[in-house]
Parts: sequence; structure tokens; C-alpha cells
Amino acid sequence: MSDTLEPMGLKAKLGLDVFKADKEPHIKIKAGKEKDPRLKQAIVVCPAGLYTENSEGEVELSIDGCLECGTCRIVCGPEILDWQYPSGGSGVQFRFG
Ligand code: SF4
Repeated sequence: MSDTLEPMGLKAKLGLDVFKADKEPHIKIKAGKEKDPRLKQAIVVCPAGLYTENSEGEVELSIDGCLECGTCRIVCGPEILDWQYPSGGSGVQFRFG
């Protein structure tokens, strides 16, 4: 039996966080921008991996698990994303730093 502690991976750390859904998604992709190259950058930079590209080449966002870091907001800009913080009491509660 080993008594050394294994370091936690990113997914394990994120799994400790708690997310409370808002009534409306706090980040929305603006209409007609689903295939914009600037939006495709969000697939790479979102630390929670919430942006994916579907078979039509459109980017989709699954807001559950958003860390509210603002990275997608900076990379994509206001022409692409309607970005707000969640309303009070909603959103992420960090449990690990
Ligand atoms: S705010 Fe951060 S975690 Fe949330 S969708 Fe944007 S990049 Fe991902």
C-alpha cells in the first residue's frame, strides 16, 4: 500500500466545482455567427471544453460547467458572443482554488 498522494488532474479538480444553472444561458452565440472563424477559436481556448463543432461546421456551446473566466469573451469579441455574468446565486462555485 502506497502512502504517497497522487496529484489531481484538471478534470478531477473541475469535478469538485458546483454549478447552478441560470434561468437563461449567460453566454449566447449571436445569430448567424455559428461558423465564424473567431468563434472556432473558443473550441481551443475554453478551459472547460464547452464549445464543440457539429457536423454542419457550426460551433455549439453547452453552458453547464462554465467557469466564468471570460476567455471566450476576449477571443471572440462582442460581435460574436452575447456575454453576461450569471444572475445572483447562479453560476459556478469553486471548490478547489
Ligand atoms: S467563460 Fe471561460 S469557461 Fe465559460 S464558456 Fe467562456 S471560455 Fe469557457
